[in-house]
Amino acid sequence: MNKAAFLDRDGVINVKAPEGQYVTRWEEVRFLPGVATAISRLNESGFRVIVISNQRCVAKGLVTEEQVVALHQKISKELANLGAVIDAVYFCPHDTEPACNCRKPAPGMILQAAKDHQIDLGASWMIGDSAADVAAGKNAGCKTVLIGRRAVSSASPDLLAESLLEATGKIFDFEGLSGRRGAMPIQFTVSATIPASPDQIYDAWLSSKGHAAMTESAAKVSARVGGAFTAWDGYISGKNLKLKPGKQIVQSWRTTEFAASDPDSQIDVLLEKVRGGTKITLHHTNIPGGQSDYKTGWRECYFEPMKKYFKAKAA
Ligand SMILES: [Mg+2]
Ligand SMILES: [Zn+2]
Repeated sequence: MNKAAFLDRDGVINVKAPEGQYVTRWEEVRFLPGVATAISRLNESGFRVIVISNQRCVAKGLVTEEQVVALHQKISKELANLGAVIDAVYFCPHDTEPACNCRKPAPGMILQAAKDHQIDLGASWMIGDSAADVAAGKNAGCKTVLIGRRAVSSASPDLLAESLLEATGKIFDFEGLSGRRGAMPIQFTVSATIPASPDQIYDAWLSSKGHAAMTESAAKVSARVGGAFTAWDGYISGKNLKLKPGKQIVQSWRTTEFAASDPDSQIDVLLEKVRGGTKITLHHTNIPGGQSDYKTGWRECYFEPMKKYFKAKAA
């Protein structure tokens, strides 16, 4: 038997459309921050990741079932490129009336997925941003997480979280999976080509405004050796250890997931002018064992938004 994380789609994986509107085309999909990191962690921890989504836009004639399937294939492919695997997607194409047994809060889709993928529902979680998601999870016998700043207390989920990333952290804590620490610290190297000059990247990395703009989240950054920084709304913090303008940034680096007893990790960012911009090579060393997949995090939360930011800036 397998365990699964059943994920609602809109408001959990991607930004929800305004009330009464629907996300029906790839151009309208905007992934929420940290989603690929969260899904890749669920993958690593042995959870099947299965999307369970109500899409009554089909019944309303706004989109065909085939188009929804194609959209889900595109979403899965893009997430897979970031190291996050979605194992299956189920959606209900029906309207609220007449009642079907798949539209959440009914448990039909979860029960079908459990059959198809040999899932132990008691060991599984439903993660959604509405009371119907929580009810569907409970009706299927799963534990539940309600996501969003406006917690619907009447839904009484097992856990509350503001994002899928926070939800996975809380699930791992709940399941006792967080304490796993390998004896060996981890290190890796990631690289990407960013459409900007080395100086532009260096300056943006070391300024509060630039860092926030290129990562799309709050940052407070010193440009001096010995100066401190925080990024990603305080999730990341550290100090500048060595700075070579336009060439190299060495920083101590930790996230709120490090235990107090864990030493800082270190990043060494090298900038090199190449055709089409700058090759950024990031060596990340001394990461405590048993931590999440920061390699995916660098791609998803830095390199991809940086590419978009500098491309838009140049246009
Ligand atoms: Mg939703
Ligand atoms: Zn249905």
